[in-house]
Amino acid sequence: MTSEPEPSKTEPSKIEPSTREGREALARLVTERLCDSVEQLLGEQYRVEPGVRPNYFVDGLVVDAFRVTERCPRKLAGPSSEYRDSVAMSRRRIGLLAVRELANSAGTSQPMLVSTAVQQVMADPTNWPMSLRDWVDSLDRAGQAAVGAAAITWAESALRLVGRDSRVKWAEPSQKPKWNVPGRLVQLSASVDAVLGGVSSGEKLLILSDAVPGPADRLRAGFTALVRTLGARHAPLRVTVGSPATGLLQPIPVTQELLELAADRAVEMIGLLANPDSAGTVAGRWCGYCHLLEDCDAGRTQLAAGGSATM
Ligand code: SF4
Repeated sequence: MTSEPEPSKTEPSKIEPSTREGREALARLVTERLCDSVEQLLGEQYRVEPGVRPNYFVDGLVVDAFRVTERCPRKLAGPSSEYRDSVAMSRRRIGLLAVRELANSAGTSQPMLVSTAVQQVMADPTNWPMSLRDWVDSLDRAGQAAVGAAAITWAESALRLVGRDSRVKWAEPSQKPKWNVPGRLVQLSASVDAVLGGVSSGEKLLILSDAVPGPADRLRAGFTALVRTLGARHAPLRVTVGSPATGLLQPIPVTQELLELAADRAVEMIGLLANPDSAGTVAGRWCGYCHLLEDCDAGRTQLAAGGSATM
């Protein structure tokens, strides 16, 4: 008896991200992987009710890039301390608005100075995200001057790193790549500073980081690529992590392996957020700035023992 030959299947590991078709196939693959995993993980939890507009922040789970490299599961799952704006956070948002202003003025006879662009942005907060406007409004003159100076430094460093290239599209700070898991009160949210290229040629994303370049960048880049892939239905070609503090650019190619790593991490994060009581502790030097430290025996013991990392 002769057996029928197996129908040919697309080997997932053979998806080639260098072509547009390949990048779309990667998007389908990773979307399916993530949806299937969430279905298994959440069961009847966090379903969107028919006819009810989902409020992801109040009733659901929001998985963001900030927590993607968190090493302690309890810290990741615990209620986050209330977000407060700060000079460190605001300088990026005002800096981004300023580099967009510079890009708009490119090609005019007199190239604009970064400081002029920041001054223009600071003088007209009409189109700022509301939280940023309220926070800057609440500062006195010295505080606003400090934010302006920090934004100039941020924008100067970003441009020094990337160059004044008219093909680079700097991000609108109030618009972040997001993706809602279909039928679930679960949202994935990332942050991109600039994009080069388009769908047909392949997008290259830039994320700027204050941290010293290291292994965590791969996961952060993978998560950013994942959210973009899910939302745009095509994978970017690569994510470059730029560190203005060190002047380094680390290009990380977006591969099937990277997207799967990020998708699995996202599912792990969803599971911890959905069931925070299941989250164990991993104490380390990060306990010193954990918002749960006061109520955490492991963290206090760690700090009392000298605060060094255990992993
Ligand atoms: S104090 Fe340390 S061990 Fe405790 S939750 Fe925070 S990071 Fe984890």
